[in-house]
Amino acid sequence: MRLTRYFLPVLKETPSEAQIVSHRMMLRAGMIKQASAGIYSWLPLGYKVLKRIEQIVHEEQIRAGHIPMLMPTLQSADLWRESGRYDDYGQEMLRIKDRHDRDMLYGPTNEELITDIFRSHVSSYKDLPLTLYHIQWKFRDEIRPRFGVMRGREFLMKDGYNFDIDKDAALHAYNRHLVSYLRSYERMGLQAIPMRADGGPIGGDYTHEFLVLAETGESEVFYDSEITDLKFGDRAVDYDSVPECQAVLEEFTSRYARTDETHDEAAFHAQVPEARRRTARGIEVGQIFYFGTKYSEAMGANVVGPDGSRSPVHMGSHGIGVSRLLGAIIEASHDDRGIIWPEGVTPFHCGIVNLKQGDVAADAACDGLYKALTAKGLEPLYDDRAERAGAKFATMDLIGLPWRITVGPRGLEKGVVELTSRRSGESEELSPEAALDRIAQIYAGH
Ligand code: ATP
Ligand code: MG
Repeated sequence: MRLTRYFLPVLKETPSEAQIVSHRMMLRAGMIKQASAGIYSWLPLGYKVLKRIEQIVHEEQIRAGHIPMLMPTLQSADLWRESGRYDDYGQEMLRIKDRHDRDMLYGPTNEELITDIFRSHVSSYKDLPLTLYHIQWKFRDEIRPRFGVMRGREFLMKDGYNFDIDKDAALHAYNRHLVSYLRSYERMGLQAIPMRADGGPIGGDYTHEFLVLAETGESEVFYDSEITDLKFGDRAVDYDSVPECQAVLEEFTSRYARTDETHDEAAFHAQVPEARRRTARGIEVGQIFYFGTKYSEAMGANVVGPDGSRSPVHMGSHGIGVSRLLGAIIEASHDDRGIIWPEGVTPFHCGIVNLKQGDVAADAACDGLYKALTAKGLEPLYDDRAERAGAKFATMDLIGLPWRITVGPRGLEKGVVELTSRRSGESEELSPEAALDRIAQIYAGH
């Protein structure tokens, strides 16, 4: 993309309404615009990152054997009356009447809808195990929407639902989700720690939240510092293998890690030596639940087992806060000049800065790099504006592309361009061809 043809409405002033760094930077970098309280338009740059995150979530869910689909945002109240949650959900649910005076709602989550789909089409253990998921907008009429996309009213969530014949099989689905979430967050450049959580309105004893440590997090967290040394890395876990998924669960959840809702000071002291006890803030970027037959019993979702008897199917639900993740990633990865995107989610793979637009050699070198990068399947953002170098660098730093190639007449006389890492700030002079190869190499694993 050439910047002169793009829509990147960067703000010079720091917006006063934004209290936390990710919200400020998303507004300044022209990624989002508030449409009304807690509801945002996703401008092109923000939309691109949102799509990258969605793509990672899709790839990792499909890798785990989970099946993508799409359910609507608007739901009929009748299903929620069946489960008993229509009255329980309270004011967070946006209730709507259609022209026939029927009660509708904008879905805050989808347990009812998916259970209805399941009971209409599945009645035998032979069709299990089954995990369906979608990535869809949710609406929760939060009392205090704030921090930009972090606590919105309309937000994008991946929510998945497993259906299994019994508790053991459903717990394997739970473990599979835990593994797939660890992989997903790491690909986004994040460390998200699974912490024992509270069931809340969805209910259930088995639940973990995934938290990204950040000063601006809304949850207080307590953990054993050893947990931050754990990396999932590129290990190949067989998602069908119960012991392999179980081993990951044990490795990542055996140490003490809790949010304030489940924290137990006595257990913390008993289990964690003082030097390793940490208290910090965290952002919840996902949660997994096993809740058994809560919905299947209420809604009559039964399956016939191998012995011919019918029993309610065992279920769990599993969510990733796709739109919140943009804020969480920025909170975890920025400096005072702007965002620093991890390679896995960056909106463009690298920036090209032309120091002297209009100079024949510089223009030709930039065009050449742009074409060559594109031919390799990479997306560069070429700042081809007739601006001062300082202004171009400031824009690149703000929008946070991890790599920048700087091209100017003086370097070109020596046959070199400059490759700069946004994260370390280190620059290296090398030939345009070598710069190309380096960028291609960096992204080969992403
Ligand atoms: P919270 O405790 O932050 O209100 P929750 O526990 O109610 O979240 P879940 O039902 O677990 O949320 O939803 C799954 C994920 O969706 C959460 O882990 C979070 O990342 C994201 N999410 C929930 N509420 C919001 C919101 N208002 N804005 C943006 N993302 C959200
Ligand atoms: Mg939650």
